[in-house]
Parts: sequence; C-alpha cells; structure tokens
Amino acid sequence: MDLYNLTITEAHRLLKKKEITSTELTRAVLDRIAAVETRIDAFLTVTADQALEQAAAADRSIAARTCGPLTGIPVALKDVICTQGVRTTCGSKILSPFIPPYDATVVARLKQAGAVLVGKLNMDEFAMGSSTENSGFKITRNPWDLTRIPGGSSGGSAAAVAAGMCLGALGSDTGGSVRQPASHCGVVGIKPTYGRVSRYGLVAYASSLDQIGPLSRSVADAALLLNGIAGHDPADSTSVPIAVPDYAAALGPGIEGLRIGIPREYAASEGLDPEVSAAVEEAVRTLEALGARRVEVSLPHTQYAVAVYYVIAPCEASSNLARYDGVKYGFRANAGGDLIDMYRRTRSQGFGAEVQRRIIIGTYCLSAGYYDAYYGKASQVRTLIVEDFKKAFAACDVIACPTAPTPAFRIGEKIDDPLTMYLSDIFTISANLAGIPALSLPCGFSASGLPIGLQLMGTHFGEETILRVAHRFEGATDFHKKRPAL
Ligand code: GLN
Repeated sequence: MDLYNLTITEAHRLLKKKEITSTELTRAVLDRIAAVETRIDAFLTVTADQALEQAAAADRSIAARTCGPLTGIPVALKDVICTQGVRTTCGSKILSPFIPPYDATVVARLKQAGAVLVGKLNMDEFAMGSSTENSGFKITRNPWDLTRIPGGSSGGSAAAVAAGMCLGALGSDTGGSVRQPASHCGVVGIKPTYGRVSRYGLVAYASSLDQIGPLSRSVADAALLLNGIAGHDPADSTSVPIAVPDYAAALGPGIEGLRIGIPREYAASEGLDPEVSAAVEEAVRTLEALGARRVEVSLPHTQYAVAVYYVIAPCEASSNLARYDGVKYGFRANAGGDLIDMYRRTRSQGFGAEVQRRIIIGTYCLSAGYYDAYYGKASQVRTLIVEDFKKAFAACDVIACPTAPTPAFRIGEKIDDPLTMYLSDIFTISANLAGIPALSLPCGFSASGLPIGLQLMGTHFGEETILRVAHRFEGATDFHKKRPAL
C-alpha cells in the first residue's frame, strides 16, 4: 500500500508500532504532491522544509514513546487559515503578499498535537464560491475527472485529500464549503456546530456562519481531527465553553432504533439529479438495514434558505472585507490620485469579480432605508429556519439528505451564471443558518464514476451522533475505499 493513501487511523497504528516513521510518511506525501500537483493544482504553498522538520520532531517524540493520534500525520490547511510565517492568501490577490504574524488557534492545536503541516490549499477567493474557479490564482481540478471542478470553496482541501496529497485537511464552511467539495471528491467532510471550533485566525467571510471543519478519507479520521481542533478558545468569543466529548470514542455504539429524518421538501427540490437521489435513497435503506428507523420530517422554510443566505452572507462579507484597503494588509495599487482613489484602485484590482459582486450586494442590503427590508427580513426568516430544525429534531435524531444536488460539474459550466452556481448549496446552507453540525460522506458513484455524498445533519453539539451514524454506514459500504486513478 502506498503510504500517502493511508488513513490517519492506519498511519497512526503503524507509527505507534514503529513500522513506519513520520519522515517516511511525510516524504511519501511530498513525493505524491510533486507527482500529481501539476494535474490537480490543489496547493498554493507547499511547506516541505517545515514539514520535514516537524516530521523529524514527531519521530523524536515517538521514540520517546509519545504518539498521540495526530503525531507525525501530514495534514494541509485551506489558505483561509492563518499560519505564522507562512503566506496566507485566502485565494485572493489582495492578500497575495500577506504573511500572518500568528497561528490560528486550530493551527496551534494541530502543532501541539504533533501534526505535520505540508502546505496551504487553494480555494475560492475569500471562500466565496462552490467550484474553486473563483480563486485569484488557479483552478483546482477534481481528481476523479480532471475536466471537472472539485467543488468549493474548500476545493483544494477536498482534492488534496482525495488525491493522497495529505492524509487530512482543514477547510472552512460558511454555506457548504467543507461538505460540498467533500461530496464531489469522494471524501468525508464535517462542519461542526457553530461555536464548537475556534475561528481565531480564520479569515472572516460571514462571521455568524463560518466554521472550520476537517476533511478526511474516513469518518474515524474526521473524528480524530475534530478532537484535535474542537473546544473553547478565549480568543474567540463565539466559541462555546462546553466540554468536548471524545469523538473517536463516540463511534462505538450501533444505531439500532435511531430515527433518521427525511425532509419532505428536499425530495421535491428542483435540479436534484436522479442518480444523486437514488444513491441517497439507497443509503437510507442501508441505515434502515443497520437498525435505524426512517421518519418523514418537514423543513417548510427550506425554499427561502438560499435567498436568506445570499443576503446575510454578503452583508457580513461587505463589512468584514472593508479592512482590505491597501493600508493594513497585503496588496496596494500603484500610487497616484488621492486616498479614496488609492482605496478604489486597490480594491478594484485586488478583488475578483465574485467578491466585488458580494461586496456590492452586501453594501446595498445594509444601506440606510434598505436594512430592514433585506438584512432585517432575512434575519427573521433565518429564525424560522432555526425553528424548523427544532421541530424536526423533536421527531428524529439525525436528518439525512443529499449534500449536493448533482455530482461535480464541468469547469466553466456554471461560472457565468452566479444564480445557478448559488443553487449548488441548496442542501448545505440551512445547517449554517441554523448553526447545527452536518457532515458529508461518500454514498455512491454516478454512472460516469463521479462520487456522490450523503449529508447527515444533527442537533447543536450533536456531532457524536452524526459521526456514529456515518461510521456505521461506512462500515457497511465500500464507497470510501475507492481512490481516483491518477
Ligand atoms: N458556496 C457558498 C458561497 O459561495 C458557500 C461558501 C462557503 O461555505 N464558504 O458563499
């Protein structure tokens, strides 16, 4: 078996038994990056030297008999997560020269856990997009079909995990950006409950929706990564000071009697590919065969979720992105004219089209006279969506549905039609609006060999339950074992 294809769980076992070293594992991953990166374009920065130093340190610690679950494991980070001394661009030209003076809390925690950081991954600019085509630098390709998008905005993270360029990765999910690319690349991705993982050092897109989450090749690996990053952080006032369970230990029990809620409204969703709905239906049958019980639930305000999101997220983004003015960080357009002129030219040249579109939408919606009609109204409907989930979870333990309405689409297919692109998030956005945890895991392949994802949503801080259901499903199926031929 190629070392780069190991799961974190398998690699940990071999490291602990001293059958492999972290240096060997890290070299295998770096060689794999060198071999396939020109075809995938997943990385914006590869930190080979740093990785080999960290691997050597991990090997020393293993020799001294300290081998935690992430010790010596090569992982990579979406380039929206700040890394001390390592360029962090957020996929944007405006941040292309930015080198953070500090580590995000998740990075500090991964380092403390002994993980090896191999680099920074491509993404849609400021995490705005569903295809990674909005990156200011390059388009990442789907390892299962190089003519297709890997999903977005954490497309680099999902592609890198699928292609064996790291054993696990972190992404960020504001409206589906961990789950949707996980689905398109045939890997596991989890968006934790809002407040479960610190956002300190995560470049802000829409602060009330953003959450960092792991991508991996197995559910157990996702649990290990989540164990590594979850928990209260005094530096993030929205992180919640409640105890973090051991997610890996929570995978044990079965799912007999567990109620799986199927939202009535999702089946009727326009644009749902028949191959996706068949795979998800088959997955629910598998869960039933494992002892779970199917119940129908209703999420009546689902039809408004995309519209609500595309008011709230741009509003928050327009405010968060005001800081990129050519003075405080990164890029500044060449001088000439007055201060306002410098701001205007910096922001026009530094931001791409989609980011400018969202800043304009958000600024408009927050303007005096429009605030109540747009932002205020959207916030009210958001509350109704939260209520929908509360009612649904009175009747079920977990909600199951597709992650994305179609398998990965072709590069270029939707880029000129933002509204169609926005509908890629139709099944994922509600979980961010409600703040609940949700994950995607492989549940099938289309006739043309493209991965399909099953989404499982849980109650606030109910990560253990969705991970447990996912783990059982994975144990009963083989979809996660397939690797793209590269
Ligand atoms: N595709 C959605 C957007 O463009 C979600 C992105 C995300 O979750 N970061 O905003």
